[in-house]
Amino acid sequence: MLKDLLNGYCTQKEILSWYNANLSYVVLPKGIYGFVFNYKGIYNIIVNKNLSQYKRRRIIIHELAHIELDHLVQYNKDLFAFFIQDYEDEADRYIKEILK
Ligand SMILES: [Zn+2]
Repeated sequence: MLKDLLNGYCTQKEILSWYNANLSYVVLPKGIYGFVFNYKGIYNIIVNKNLSQYKRRRIIIHELAHIELDHLVQYNKDLFAFFIQDYEDEADRYIKEILK
């Protein structure tokens, strides 16, 4: 699905609804770009409101990679995945792999 988004075959809105995900723009402390968590079966993607349009999109794609790679299911649901460096790397590698 993320592949379809990156290749322009589906919209951000479609992929969010596919994954049962909500997207919110929130004022976050400087240096925190965004994170994702699962609450009662719904993914919540939180993105720092102060970021540029370009960075926002990059963060959304990154958080969607966590969802697609099941990172939030493998650990406990309250996990804020951006704390786990291995998962960070895997998410970024996955996006790079798709973009090849
Ligand atoms: Zn992350």
